[in-house]
Amino acid sequence: MGKVWFVGAGPGAPDLITVRGTQVLARSGAILYTGSLVAETALQWAPADCEIADSKSMDLTQVTDWLLSRAEQHETVVRLQTGDPTLYGVLAELARPLDAAGIEVGIVPGVSSAMASAAAAGECLTLPEVTQSVIFTRFAGRTPMPAGESFAALAGHGCTLCIFLSIERIAAVAEALVAAGWAADAPVVVVHKATWPGEEQVLRGSIADIAERCRAAGIVRQAMILVSPALGARQRAAGASSKLYDAGFERRFRGKGTRD
Ligand code: SAH
Repeated sequence: MGKVWFVGAGPGAPDLITVRGTQVLARSGAILYTGSLVAETALQWAPADCEIADSKSMDLTQVTDWLLSRAEQHETVVRLQTGDPTLYGVLAELARPLDAAGIEVGIVPGVSSAMASAAAAGECLTLPEVTQSVIFTRFAGRTPMPAGESFAALAGHGCTLCIFLSIERIAAVAEALVAAGWAADAPVVVVHKATWPGEEQVLRGSIADIAERCRAAGIVRQAMILVSPALGARQRAAGASSKLYDAGFERRFRGKGTRD
């Protein structure tokens, strides 16, 4: 029985896979990938006789069966995923039957699109005395949010938000941010296809106009929404905190009726 590795391919650019990721690919007998760009990364590092397949048209059971059967034939089998494999994927669902079959599972972390988007925009996700926490979340879609993780509750913290899987609902996201206490003129950055060669787009706007800007730019998929009091820090004087954030903070408390 071989070992199945879940390898993060990074956010898009083939050179953003880790060195460890390339080493696992280079000794693999079979690779199952998701996403068109990830295919290039696989091809670049896989040995010539490696079986490489796309899981696009497979359901969860078919992916599991593929990994199980390949693990019987090869010492190293790879499930190659975008970004980091522990975020918004189906690693647990896929690993469960492998664990049950006694197949060893390994994980190689990847550069998440959250990190790649901040880098593309030249922004920091934390800033001393301004925000020291980052929330990775999404807007409720077909996947409902678990109790205690409503977008309103998370946005209400006023810290940095990296919002995945939600660009289709950017107008609703903006509305919810304002309802949670953010100022309508607080900055928002949307990064489309961060690090994809020749396709990366960084859009800057405010909560009030970001939906319209995304619509005008035709951005409807594969984008990260960054909301943070740290945005634009490089353009502000050292030590100055964001007035926009302060305004939002004040309003949040007024909104909840804990002040006034
Ligand atoms: N595991 C991945 C996330 C997969 S969920 C990671 O760690 O990045 C898919 C969501 O990730 C997309 O809806 C989008 O919000 C974000 N995403 C993935 N690749 C991206 C990229 N290159 N640029 C911007 N956002 C991206």
